[in-house]
Amino acid sequence: MDCLIIGCRVVDETKDFYGDIYIKDGKIADCGKNLNYQCQTIEANNLVAMPSFIDMHAHFREPGYTYKEDIYSGSLAALKGGYTFVNLMANTNPICSSMEIVEYVLNRCKELDLIDIHQTMSITKDFDGKTLDHLDDIDNRVKFISDDGKGVRSNLTMYEAMNKAKEKGLVIISHTEDEEIASIDARLSENIMTLRDIYLSKLTWAKLHLAHVSTKESIEEIRKIKKSSGNITCEVTPHHISLYDNDYKVNPPIKEKEDIEEILEGIKDGTVDVIATDHAPHSKEDKEKGSPGISGLETAFSICYTTLVKSGEISLNRLSQLMSAVPGRLMKINKGKIKTGYDGDIVLVDLSKKTQIHGEDFVSKGKNTVFNGKEFYGEIVATIRNGEIKYDGGIKVDNR
Ligand SMILES: [Zn+2]
Repeated sequence: MDCLIIGCRVVDETKDFYGDIYIKDGKIADCGKNLNYQCQTIEANNLVAMPSFIDMHAHFREPGYTYKEDIYSGSLAALKGGYTFVNLMANTNPICSSMEIVEYVLNRCKELDLIDIHQTMSITKDFDGKTLDHLDDIDNRVKFISDDGKGVRSNLTMYEAMNKAKEKGLVIISHTEDEEIASIDARLSENIMTLRDIYLSKLTWAKLHLAHVSTKESIEEIRKIKKSSGNITCEVTPHHISLYDNDYKVNPPIKEKEDIEEILEGIKDGTVDVIATDHAPHSKEDKEKGSPGISGLETAFSICYTTLVKSGEISLNRLSQLMSAVPGRLMKINKGKIKTGYDGDIVLVDLSKKTQIHGEDFVSKGKNTVFNGKEFYGEIVATIRNGEIKYDGGIKVDNR
């Protein structure tokens, strides 16, 4: 698809200027001032154009729990939130421990033609905490392995998994919570497993990505290890950077003000690599029964923009880096920057627009959010994938 976006503030991890973007055959072909091409033209009217967002951590619940979410409803939620690429976790039913399920998800994604998806494979077969044989069947469509939803308790299993990951060039996404300790001390539960996984990664040279880091101690340890190891990256979530002393059920739980302050330091000094949503949709009944998680794709940008950029803590360039450029590099995809040759995936946002969050209005099947009634700046006006408008929240298009 060809498309010309005119009159926008173009922002990615390094750029910030007023101009136009031209997408040809689905790829960014030109970017500058006063561009003139004969094709579908979007009048951006000073909206901000950023590379669409890339989520390294989401749960779409298919196969198995499609009453909570499915690949279709999850994709619509992603687009409404400005995302065109999402990495899905393995805790479906059956658990994603085979290439068959990976293939099912990727085929479904292709059929729908809404967003792009990477499907993560489980570290241990069916999350049994010990079997790793299925990892031998992985082909190059899989880049990440994770038992996200629960931590791998056995030290030996994690040690062997890291060796295998190193050998096969896979990245381990670690859900660092020791279930046995979690009910007594959530902080200890996270810190002890973070330390172990950092140590094992250092020992085995396996690539490790720490999911949803929530404690100040974990941030401090990651900061230290990053000075000597290039193999460790980490992510934080919109809810862990914007809430404290809040008992809405999420894993890992919301921590305290001093944790947020340290995470913020980590965002500023580069300790934190990525912001990921941990989009975890649930039905009303499941949530009432205590299922952990927040339906996060549709609110991530506005929460992060308001909390981090509008408040003056970081630049919009840095937010783009956290939500697009770095996840793009870690996923090894041709997305995440506004640059010639990159995929024509663009999100148009209105930074001055304030909106109130209502879970009931989500297109995701999961209406579960802790942010009901809260107001944030930064509305997604359109999401474009490969030069094609996939979500239209009210833009002006001229088919010249
Ligand atoms: Zn997790």
